[in-house]
Amino acid sequence: LNYRNCQFITSAPKLAQCPDDSGSEVAFAGRSNAGKSSAINALTGNSKMTKTSKTPGRTQLINFFSVGGNPEQRLVDLPGYGFAKVPLKVKQEWERNLDHYLQHRQSLRGLVLLMDIRHPMTDFDLMMMNWAEQAQMPVRILLTKADKLKRGPAMNTLLQVRKQLEVHGGLINAQLFSAVKGEGLDDLRGQLDLWLEE
Ligand code: GDP
Repeated sequence: LNYRNCQFITSAPKLAQCPDDSGSEVAFAGRSNAGKSSAINALTGNSKMTKTSKTPGRTQLINFFSVGGNPEQRLVDLPGYGFAKVPLKVKQEWERNLDHYLQHRQSLRGLVLLMDIRHPMTDFDLMMMNWAEQAQMPVRILLTKADKLKRGPAMNTLLQVRKQLEVHGGLINAQLFSAVKGEGLDDLRGQLDLWLEE
């Protein structure tokens, strides 16, 4: 699939306002600052792609993009959080929306979960993995900003994370990723193709 030809479809505050639940979609999630926007920009070659998700007041929206001009194959930018400024009520509402989306979205084929390689498996990440497991939703973890570590430590982190994933019996897998170096892009594209062409 041609990820360089992605187009913004719509933003939705909750599941009820999402595009029709037909075709296939893959969602991207990550704690804020994990490198989600950079990854989506690197994948699509378009730095304007994730602008809405960075606009203050719009950070809680679910953003939908069509792939290769086909609205039946979509990428979804899920809201991430992690800034202490978010009030608890807002955070809880947000969590309810994310959980609901993962459990009930029929067209959802897989979840890309982004973690900064220097701080993997945060509480947010564990929560997302928990929900994914409940929904029996496959997950690809991207250990982002891999260029920030030397090769040895980066591989060590990957192996440690993979070890922790063994309990999930293959539902969740992990790879290295660097938006800056383009590392892991082909691997990611291969996974997305498999999910979106299901
Ligand atoms: P988001 O909040 O998850 O969308 O994260 P961003 O994509 O905005 O990235 C957060 C910070 O990490 C920014 O300062 C980026 O420049 C930096 N960053 C993102 N990806 C990479 C990467 O692959 N390598 C390096 N060195 N920095 C990155």
